[in-house]
Amino acid sequence: MSECIFCRISAGDVPADVVAQDEDFVAFRDARPLAPVHLLVIPRSHVASLDEAEELSAEASARALAFLAATARSAGVAETGYRVITNTGPDAGQEVMHLHWHVIGGTRLGGMA
Ligand code: 5GP
Ligand code: ZN
Repeated sequence: MSECIFCRISAGDVPADVVAQDEDFVAFRDARPLAPVHLLVIPRSHVASLDEAEELSAEASARALAFLAATARSAGVAETGYRVITNTGPDAGQEVMHLHWHVIGGTRLGGMA
């Protein structure tokens, strides 16, 4: 069994509040939400961070932005707005070494740090 928590969520081995999924991606609620809507979107394939984006399949790379946009629309934040963040490496405070995008919204967000 994978030791990567997000691989285990993708496989259904660890429970998560999944809001959308398809063959390439899973979207689920962050366990420690920073805003009323705080989702994580992950590729099903294990890629450690954006710095290894070339390891994503061409198909998943091509579909990632559209999946993010569709996830935000289905979460109800497309009209009011939202932020997509990818923490990459130590200076960004990346905790989970499986590429993921935070989709944050549902309130007026503060400035970028
Ligand atoms: P990072 O700092 O790596 O960009 O953020 C990792 C995020 O994953 C954090 O916001 C944290 O709350 C979330 N997280 C870590 N482990 C789990 C988990 O097991 N389940 C869920 N739903 N979120 C998690
Ligand atoms: Zn993984």
